[in-house]
Amino acid sequence: MRALTLVADRKIELLDVAAPPAPAAGEVQIAVKAIGLNHIDVWGWRGMAFAKRKLPLIVGVEAAGEIAAAGPGVADFKPGDRVVAYGALTCGACKACREGRDNLCENVASIMGFHVDGFARDLINMPARLIVPFPQGLSFRDAACAPVAFGTVQHMLFDNAKLEPGETILVQAGGSGIGTSAIKMAKAIGATVITTVGDDDKAAKAKALGADHVINYRTERFEGVVRKLTGKKGVDVAFEHVGPDTFNGSLLCLKRGGRLVTCGSTSGQSITLNLFQLYLQQYRIFGSFGCSIRNIRDSLAKMAAGLTPVIDTEVPLAEFERGLARLESRQVFGKIIVAF
Ligand SMILES: [Zn+2]
Repeated sequence: MRALTLVADRKIELLDVAAPPAPAAGEVQIAVKAIGLNHIDVWGWRGMAFAKRKLPLIVGVEAAGEIAAAGPGVADFKPGDRVVAYGALTCGACKACREGRDNLCENVASIMGFHVDGFARDLINMPARLIVPFPQGLSFRDAACAPVAFGTVQHMLFDNAKLEPGETILVQAGGSGIGTSAIKMAKAIGATVITTVGDDDKAAKAKALGADHVINYRTERFEGVVRKLTGKKGVDVAFEHVGPDTFNGSLLCLKRGGRLVTCGSTSGQSITLNLFQLYLQQYRIFGSFGCSIRNIRDSLAKMAAGLTPVIDTEVPLAEFERGLARLESRQVFGKIIVAF
C-alpha cells in the first residue's frame, strides 16, 4: 500500500509499504481518504531534539476515512462508516483519560505522525475507543481537519481561554490553518475578532471570513493598533502560536486579567518575560497542546452544522509535493489537504 514517508529533514517520499493485518480485538481498520498537512509533517529533526523519534516515519497527524473492517468485539463501527481518529495513543485508564482530558493522559505512548507512524497511508489499524464517527453530509476533506486544526482551536478557545460571546480576541497569524479556524469559531459565538496577517491579499481573505479588524503586521505595529481599536483597554483573549516574534506583543494587547493561550512557537523557543507586568496585570497564560476526544466530536458537530474549515488547496496523493510546497510558502491561507 502507499504511504507518505518522511525519510530525512524536509524530504517526504511516496513509498510502497506492507499493508496492516486484519484488525485485532477492539481495533478497526480504516481506509484513509484525506489527510490534513501540518508543519509537524515536514519538520523532521529540525528544532525537535527533545522528541524521541526515528526516521523513516509515515507522516500525517490528522485524517478522515472510512471503516474497512472491524475486529472482534467492536460493536460501534461497521464497514463504510465515516470516521476520524484521535492521534495520540493514550492509555484510556488513568485519571485524566477517565475524566475525558485525553491530552493530559499520564501514560500516553506516542503521538501518531510524530513519534510513531501516522495516518498518511492507504490503511491503518486503530483502537476503536479512539475513533469518532461523522455523518455522510460532511466531506472527508473537511472532517480531516477535525483532529488537529479544529480540535486544537476548540480546546484553546473554549476549555482553556474560556472565550465568551461579546468578548474581544486577538488571533495571531490569522491566515494559518488554526488561525482561520480560530477566526471562524470565535465569530460563530459572537466574539469580536482582531487578527494579524502578513499581506494585503490575506487581509481581504480574513475580512471575508468575518474578522472585524485585520492588521497587516508588516506595515503596522499590531500592539498600537489593538490599543487604538479597544479604546486603550486591550483584548480579553490573545490567541498565540507564533512565539518570540509576537508573544510579548500579544501580552501587551491584553486587558488587565486577560488570557493568553498558546499552542505553538513557530518563530523560536524562548522569550524574556516581564514578571512585574505578568502579576500586576494579572494575566493568565495557558499552554495548550492537542485536544480531547470530546473536542473532536464538538468540532465535527460544528462542521456538520456549516462551520467548515478554510481549505487553501486539496491535492491528489500523486501531487503531494505540490501540497508540501504550498504549505511551506508564505501564501497559504487555510488548510492543505492530500486526498487518497
Ligand atoms: Zn491515560
